[in-house]
Amino acid sequence: MIETSCPGRPTLLSPWRRRCQWGVTLLLLLIPWFRVNGNSLLRIDIPNLSLYFFGQTLRIEELYLILLFSLLLTLGFLLTTMILGRVWCGWLCPQTTLSDLAEWFATRLGLQKKNLLKEQPIQKIALQIVYLFLAFLVSANLLWYFIEPWDFFAKLVTGQLHYASCISLLLVTLVIYLDLALIRRLMCSDFCPYGRLQTTLADQATLTLHLPPVELHRCIKCGSCVRVCPMGIDIRSGYQIECINCGRCLDACRQVMAKRNQPGLIKYTFGTAGEGHRALLNLRTLLLSLATLVMIVVLIFAVYQRPSASLKISVSHTAANRIIKDGSRATFFNAWINNRSTQKASYRIEARQTDNGNPLVIKGQTKELQLEAGENLRIDFVLVTPVPKDKLEVEFILMNQTDDELAITGAYIK
Ligand code: SF4
Ligand code: SF4
Repeated sequence: MIETSCPGRPTLLSPWRRRCQWGVTLLLLLIPWFRVNGNSLLRIDIPNLSLYFFGQTLRIEELYLILLFSLLLTLGFLLTTMILGRVWCGWLCPQTTLSDLAEWFATRLGLQKKNLLKEQPIQKIALQIVYLFLAFLVSANLLWYFIEPWDFFAKLVTGQLHYASCISLLLVTLVIYLDLALIRRLMCSDFCPYGRLQTTLADQATLTLHLPPVELHRCIKCGSCVRVCPMGIDIRSGYQIECINCGRCLDACRQVMAKRNQPGLIKYTFGTAGEGHRALLNLRTLLLSLATLVMIVVLIFAVYQRPSASLKISVSHTAANRIIKDGSRATFFNAWINNRSTQKASYRIEARQTDNGNPLVIKGQTKELQLEAGENLRIDFVLVTPVPKDKLEVEFILMNQTDDELAITGAYIK
């Protein structure tokens, strides 16, 4: 069991919990404001079908990396839940932070639960305004992961925000406002799917708050642990799925017992029945840890193997192919080059026949193509080939300045 309390001066977890909550909240609020290599630190750019991910620009065709990353996150989340229980809910989740904030404002305005029936119209209106502001902030913060914050505010003020963004902003603001005004902790106990999932994951190795039966005789039945519980739980009755591992009951008990020069009764321990840290060595936890490790290796390998540039080619639908003066076939193509590296680079496109490797002539600006890190460039060009009897298979090669073949794409000339 984890013992950190001492008689006289109890060690409290609340300051650490608040630091964690504010750390995560600030991180979520600030991430969209940071830029790396000229792009957002983390943002989904829907018009360009790209994801800016900590200095990398991932195009839609690379979404398998996002899928792998999501799988890793899911496994990591399951493993964390299996070991640390609902520690996410109590210590990190923005929903809990919002609920705490809402309750804090209500208390500051003299609108604690027991006072709610009193006539305090000004305070009640002020509280609704605070809820609305928080709801708008959360909603705008979500949109900043799609539209750069400065761009968002500029468009909002000038009325140029896309109607889909406006609808999202209003809908999310409404949902968060209703959550703050009506639902709050009910979300954690009744609605949140993660909370439901946790009940299936909690086992003999999960970190829980526990009052060991051998300590029960020291309980003075003061009820502090129950009064501070945001979920309305009596931890003395044993493990309950609604518990979000926040540790408020532990702090309350430590403070009460410190006055009697005794350590608190409630402790963090592994196992729903208080088995202790040895319970961590079980097959379920070990298998999930192994799966998470394998996924980390797969993701590192996938990122490492990723080519530094990509080339996509398609026959132009707007320009008709034709036979030119010398009897050759001119075929119009569109090409998209993506610089996936973190530096500016220069590229050129070459073409050859697939069967014999003979070089083919390209007309158009396909040399010295300068692309910034993460930039995606579209170019149009004409490929000159012999007129094929049936069809001619060709290859387009994307080369860099040191003549490395970075990407090869095939096409047929008919
Ligand atoms: S029982 Fe304790 S740890 Fe669980 S939610 Fe209530 S106060 Fe938080
Ligand atoms: S705070 Fe501690 S002493 Fe008081 S009722 Fe809860 S467990 Fe018992």
